[in-house]
Amino acid sequence: MPLPALPTPLRDRTLDTLERERFDCIVIGGGITGAGVAREACARGLRVALLEARDFASGTSSRSSKLIHGGLRYLAMGDIPLVRDTALERKRVFALAPHLAERRWMLVPARSYAGLLKFRAGLATYETLGAVTDADRHRNWDAADLAREEPLLRRDRFPYACIYREYLTDDARLVLANVRDAVRRGAIALNHAPVDRLVIENGVATGVEARCAASGRRVRVRGRAVVNAAGPWVEAVSRLEDPSAPARLHLSKGVHVAILAARLPIRQIAILAAADKRSIFAIPRGDVVYLGTTDTSYPGGADPEPPVLREDVAYLLEPVARTFDTTPLSPRECVSAWAGLRPLLAEPGKAPVELSRRDEVSRGPAGVVTIAGGKLTGYRKMGADVVARVAETLDAPLAPAVDEDAPLPGGDFDGDLDALAGRIARDASLEARTALRLARLYGVEATEVCALGREPLVAGSAVVAGEVEWAVAVEGALDACDVVFRRTRVALYDPDARAAIAPAVARRMAPLLGWSDAKTSEQIAAVEARLAADLSFQEDPA
Ligand SMILES: Cc1cc2nc3c(=O)[nH]c(=O)nc-3n(C[C@H](O)[C@H](O)[C@H](O)COP(=O)(O)OP(=O)(O)OC[C@H]3O[C@@H](n4cnc5c(N)ncnc54)[C@H](O)[C@@H]3O)c2cc1C
Repeated sequence: MPLPALPTPLRDRTLDTLERERFDCIVIGGGITGAGVAREACARGLRVALLEARDFASGTSSRSSKLIHGGLRYLAMGDIPLVRDTALERKRVFALAPHLAERRWMLVPARSYAGLLKFRAGLATYETLGAVTDADRHRNWDAADLAREEPLLRRDRFPYACIYREYLTDDARLVLANVRDAVRRGAIALNHAPVDRLVIENGVATGVEARCAASGRRVRVRGRAVVNAAGPWVEAVSRLEDPSAPARLHLSKGVHVAILAARLPIRQIAILAAADKRSIFAIPRGDVVYLGTTDTSYPGGADPEPPVLREDVAYLLEPVARTFDTTPLSPRECVSAWAGLRPLLAEPGKAPVELSRRDEVSRGPAGVVTIAGGKLTGYRKMGADVVARVAETLDAPLAPAVDEDAPLPGGDFDGDLDALAGRIARDASLEARTALRLARLYGVEATEVCALGREPLVAGSAVVAGEVEWAVAVEGALDACDVVFRRTRVALYDPDARAAIAPAVARRMAPLLGWSDAKTSEQIAAVEARLAADLSFQEDPA
């Protein structure tokens, strides 16, 4: 089921439907939280409208570390319920969308045997909480294993190591898969449609007003329940309901930078100790290795594009040469960077690193159900919890979930990503590298993407031309940034394509969306400006 793009009649029809119908549940916010709520609500037979201010996943949900993980760190903080829930959710995400939950080993280097033992004790608890199978249980790596499997690790400093299992996703594509699944189950979803007013009648929220950012058309959407899933913007939406709503979030900025994989040819996801002893990840993915993340209070308020500062970059690059046998990295070697805001629940006196990643569901004075906090990994359970609160508003028992375990779009295969990539390579006569990239992003739908054009979009890159048509026709991309940043993810992982991508994408989108030459040039300029801004690391404003 395609998501509506402009200026196709589909988007106009979507606006008509939004205006005409009365929904059971209106969801504000198309990040992973809103997408999860929409899918869970549809699975229980509710009629859902999902409205996203900018693009699906354009907020925090395209800027994470992209791990489906229980968060071992939170175990040390004593947050057992959070760790148990998210550790258990990992297998469910894998079952729903194995292309978006790639099983990967995490390497934990240790400087002493005592340190290793301490870590393994924590891991044993983690694995019990997450009901991890024997095949996925952690194991030790001795010197011979390390020399063979991760030769770049500095064994003079880290003579011990163990590995444990986590899952690597693509956050924005996980959001899109959930939005599309909700639409397949009957939801009406629209991006680039900010909600700027709540309709409150007799003290009860009975709808929202939104504006189509592309056409300027305003719609009033009526609903029996309204959900605020606006992530870092939760407070702004709450103030549409109650202008005196108290502040409840502590926004924390997290930065990632990527370097060429050839510069740091590691094989496993590695956990590095930063100068302040915090753990940061080095995550090899395709042609890059990305490093993250920072965790610093962000006083600037909910900001769609928080800046990457020089000190963030220096902090992330510093531990690399301490951990691996390589020369120190320079900021000039970064090929991409992204920053996002964690919408954490505030606790007075605590720094971001000490704050729990749990979520909280509450009801406002006009009945709006708000979900704040949480993690990408727990989105499915968070969605189910919100829908249970929505049922209270509707004052009707929830129907049992239908086909809750049915795979998300692209996820209908046995979980063997390499085998899937092999099939795609054979069927579409593609290089192995291109096929693996497509398998990760599109799962079994990669074949349909290739049918729209399997030639490289940019010479020498693994991005294929059909991805642009697919993004517009099936995934609701409305502007070139939607395609470059959140559909193809070229902005993050494809240094080969990054420089030439903007014109290639915009010129292919132009006939599909009826753009004039001037509009096409504007789109090219917008992508190029955003790509450049991501790598123009700023001085600390303080
Ligand atoms: C650096 C970093 C690394 C992380 N790494 C991980 C990780 O590896 N694993 C993990 O599980 N979690 C991770 N997280 C946490 C996770 O990314 C977030 O918890 C999650 O993405 C939040 O999703 P959300 O949908 O609540 O918010 P968002 O993704 O920000 O979505 C909210 C949406 O609401 C929209 N919106 C706002 N106002 C309106 C309005 N008025 N009308 C309509 N729409 C509106 C916004 O445009 C936005 O798209 C990380 C977070 C950060 C910052």
